[in-house]
This record gives sequence, C-alpha cells and structure tokens, in this order.
Amino acid sequence: MERIIIVRYCEIHLKGKNRSFFENLLENNIRKILADIPCETVRAQSRYLVRNFADEDYEFILNKLKKVSGIHSMSLGYKVNTDFAEISECAVEIMRYKCGTFKVETNRADKKYPKTSVEISRDLGGVLLENNRMLKVDVISPEHICYVDLREDGTTYLYCDTVKGIGGMPVGSSGRGTIMISGGIDSPVAAFMMAKRGMRLSAVHFHSFPYTGEAAKRKVIDLTKIISEYSGGVDLHVVSFTKIQEAIHENCPEEMMITLMRRFMFRITQRISESIGSQAIITGESLGQVASQTIESITTSNAVVTMPVLRPLIGFDKLEIIDIAKRIGTYETSILPYEDCCTVFLPKYPLIKPRIDRVLEAESKLDAESLIEDALGKTEIIEL
Ligand code: ATP
Ligand code: MG
Repeated sequence: MERIIIVRYCEIHLKGKNRSFFENLLENNIRKILADIPCETVRAQSRYLVRNFADEDYEFILNKLKKVSGIHSMSLGYKVNTDFAEISECAVEIMRYKCGTFKVETNRADKKYPKTSVEISRDLGGVLLENNRMLKVDVISPEHICYVDLREDGTTYLYCDTVKGIGGMPVGSSGRGTIMISGGIDSPVAAFMMAKRGMRLSAVHFHSFPYTGEAAKRKVIDLTKIISEYSGGVDLHVVSFTKIQEAIHENCPEEMMITLMRRFMFRITQRISESIGSQAIITGESLGQVASQTIESITTSNAVVTMPVLRPLIGFDKLEIIDIAKRIGTYETSILPYEDCCTVFLPKYPLIKPRIDRVLEAESKLDAESLIEDALGKTEIIEL
C-alpha cells in the first residue's frame, strides 16, 4: 500500500490537439515547485501522481500544489494492486477514523476485472460496515465517499478526502504580462489572477526614494515574492519615480498630479515590457474605486500605451478583492502601513474626470522623453 497524491487538472481537456502541450507544461510546473522535496511526479492517464514522499512532507507538498495553476483538485490516496483483499484492507484504513454516512463509488477502467463497479462498491461497503461501526450507508447524500479507481494497468487508487486546487491554466500557457505592483491590496491580487490564467509574470514598481523608504520597497519585494510562488518566479523592476513626480509637482496643476503620474507609469511599464518580451500590462484597477479609476481617468492613462492593459479586478468590489488577498496570502503584508509613491504628492482635490486636451496641455510643460529615459536608466532589477 503506497501513499500517493492524486492531482487532477481542469480545462486542459478542452484544448483538443494542444492538450499534450498543456499537460507537459503542468507536469513541468509541478516538478519545478516540488524540486526541493524528495518525491516523484508521474503521469497516470489524465492525471498526475505524486509518490515516494515521506509522510511528514505530505502537508508541505499539498500546500505547494495549492499554488499551482491548472490544478483542479488533489486527493490523498493509496495505490494498491487490483486485488480485492488488498483493496479492502486499504479502504478500511482510509475510513478507519471516519464516522457518519458514506458510500463507495467505483470506477472500473479495467474491464477485465471480474466484478462490475456496482458489485465492487456493494462488497466493499459491506467490508467497511463490518470494520467500522461508526459508519452508515447513504448512497444519496453521504458525508464521505470512498473512491475506488481500477486502472487498466492492474493498479487501483483509493481515496476519500479531496481538496480544491486554484484552478485556471498552467503558467506558461498564456504568454507574459507585466504587473504594475504597488504595496497595496489590489495589484498583488491582479497578478495572482493572471498567473492563474496561465501568464508568466514580470513586475514594475515605482518608488520615490527618499519620500518613500526602504521598508516600503521591502514590502513590495515581499509581496512580489509571495506572487512568484504562483507564477514560477517574477523579475521585479524597481523604477525611481522621484524626479518625475518632482517635475510634475513643479510644472503642472496640482489637481493633475495623479493623472499625469499614471500616464508616466504606463509609458515606462510599456517600455520595460517591450524590452523583456512581455505582451501585456496588468493593473489592480477596479472601476470607480478611487479618483484615478473612473472611466475618464482610465481613458487618459490608457491613451499613452498601445499594449493591451489587463485589469482583472475591474468589476470586483473591495471586499471581494480582500477575500482573495487573504486566501492567497498577500493581505497581511499589503496592510502594513508604509507610504506608496502615489500618496507622496497627493493633491487635496484630484481630478475625477480628467479631460485629455487639458492633460496634454499640462504635459507639454514637461520633457517627458528625457524624464522617462532617466528613470529607465535608474531601474533596479530584482529576480524573485
Ligand atoms: P493597489 O491596492 O494595487 O495599490 P489602489 O487601489 O491603491 O491599488 P491606485 O493607487 O489607483 O489604486 O493604483 C491603481 C493601480 O496602479 C494599482 O493597482 C497598480 O497596478 C498600479 N500602481 C499604483 N501605484 C503603483 C506603484 N507605486 N508602482 C507600480 N504600480 C502602481
Ligand atoms: Mg495603492
């Protein structure tokens, strides 16, 4: 009786001829995330098995797999020879500490096995009732289901408890995007959402040293590190934004500060993206959440780029975003109280509906190109 984790994938089955590409990608991603743990990952029909691991590593492996996009669910199971005595012994073991109602559900891919799936379920149910007096059969809505899966190769998998994976598509199946990451709650969630849909990630962060300190930068590095566990690594580009902010502050109307800052952020993010082969910009914007996220503000900042801008949170409420942040483990870091560059020169009354002609007029007071070149030249790259 060998302990295994059964890993099931989602959506890949929809991919027709490309299916093996997706399957290989997911298999590699699983191997990569488990690289430091003694264990083995193998393909078994349309699923994967993780096996040959130490019992004490089980939780650790499961927690790692919960960060792999493309995984639908995982079960802690056992692999035995397709032999009724072995199957029974294993089923009794799996159900030893369960109480309440149960049923056995059998899948018999091995059509040579002499009993039908209904007969196997019935006989095994009988064995379980004999061995555990706390169990009662309920085939309609049982509290526990003991799954028995007879494969064609003479092996049988048994499992009862299943945990959900994050779903989505394997990272690497949907190109590369650049997340504009702040130290806030939203952008790390936006990054996670796109990694979940299969994007590799790069990140750009704008900081305003000395207005924002080392701790604020550290916070963004920590957030990016958490995200990198979902995306299989992130290259974080930290751009010094101080000169640009000072130039806007000195030369342009106060209420346009945020509008103009955001236009610079988008331009620089596009330049960096182009230079690293990233195909899209990702932000944590949510429609109407703040002055810079009205449709008019989004239009004026979007106007400076030609790349697609993905805004996976555009229709989410703050509370929905917070729920995800808590689930993916970024929330506690996001709420640490450090300044963001956007809060440094914050105007009292930011424009809620900026007009593009006025924005262009204000911007003409600046030498945008040299400011951008200067900022790009001072960018620090951190591999996470
Ligand atoms: P967040 O919670 O992600 O900080 P927010 O609600 O504070 O978002 P804004 O400040 O309007 O909203 O920022 C909108 C988006 O712009 C952010 O989600 C992020 O993608 C990007 N952004 C904001 N500040 C920065 C920054 N300092 N560096 C990089 N990107 C930023
Ligand atoms: Mg913010």
